[in-house]
Amino acid sequence: MRVFEPLIELARGLGTTFKIMLEKPVTVQYPEQKKPVKPRFRGRHVLKRYDNGLEKCIGCALCAAACPADAIFVESAENTDDVRFSPGDRYASTYEINMLRCIFCGFCEDACPTEAVVLGDNYELSFTNRRDAIYPKEMLIEPAPAGTLPTPQKVPPGLYTRSVPEMKDPQD
Ligand code: SF4
Ligand code: SF4
Repeated sequence: MRVFEPLIELARGLGTTFKIMLEKPVTVQYPEQKKPVKPRFRGRHVLKRYDNGLEKCIGCALCAAACPADAIFVESAENTDDVRFSPGDRYASTYEINMLRCIFCGFCEDACPTEAVVLGDNYELSFTNRRDAIYPKEMLIEPAPAGTLPTPQKVPPGLYTRSVPEMKDPQD
């Protein structure tokens, strides 16, 4: 009986091969075709805006303080009503993330008081030198919504007094 054992194993292996041959291929034609990412996927950071086009980032640097990889650099400056980037007193005049250092832990997102920095679904990070791995604010900030002005905006005096807006559900 032992003489048939290799033949049985061979038939079993070929059976698996033929079964797979009849299945639908799962090859994804990347980059033309992209698979949707999972809901909790953490990709490249995005700096968000409010619906009126103002930037959510207030330059507080809490994200930089929370970052375990020291990947974020923030410098802030003062808003005025004639040159306003964000609600409240300050905005990020410089915001940089070193993508070579980032470990995509999401601590920056958790630390942000205005939900300005979000790890999005973009996983197409590519650079060929260390300098290009530092993404500046211009690369990270999302475009102003249609029908709004880009920042800086000129706004009526005294309209924006709070850096952190009232939130209906702070747990959200
Ligand atoms: S995801 Fe983590 S490592 Fe990357 S910038 Fe944010 S806090 Fe730093
Ligand atoms: S992204 Fe958030 S935590 Fe970081 S500087 Fe801007 S407002 Fe502060």
